[in-house]
Amino acid sequence: MTHDSSCIFCKIINGDIPSAKVYEDEAVYAFLDISQVTKGHTLLIPKTHTQDIYSTDEQTAEKLFARVPKVANAIKNAFEPIGLNLLNNNEAPAGQSVYHLHIHLIPRYGENDGFEPNWIVHTDDYSNDDLQAMAKQINERIS
Ligand code: AMP
Ligand code: ZN
Repeated sequence: MTHDSSCIFCKIINGDIPSAKVYEDEAVYAFLDISQVTKGHTLLIPKTHTQDIYSTDEQTAEKLFARVPKVANAIKNAFEPIGLNLLNNNEAPAGQSVYHLHIHLIPRYGENDGFEPNWIVHTDDYSNDDLQAMAKQINERIS
């Protein structure tokens, strides 16, 4: 496994820093977020150190996301939330504070449970042609 000795999540995987472990296998480690946004708020991380989604190879991503349903269902069975949000922050402006890729699993219990996705839609700002042009712009850069 690739480790970054200065990375707090690599230290958690190594057992150098304690954590409330939820699940572990050869590819991933899951543990409770120290700042529980809602009860059962869990972080799922690859054992291979990778800074964010941009620098993550397909095999690491595949293994990481493959474990999401397993952990999500365990949280659901444990605490019976009425919903669950997945969140992955990349780079500081998007809220990333730890630079080891992680997926937040945030069980939801109601509108005022502590998690507030501030989702403002801008549908009227884009015509269908704009959407087609933007989609092409992205598609041309998929490698
Ligand atoms: P993000 O802001 O998306 O980078 O998320 C990083 C998360 O890591 C935050 O929600 C922190 O509460 C959490 N965190 C930081 N240090 C620890 C730790 N030692 N154990 C558990 N969670 C941590
Ligand atoms: Zn790391």
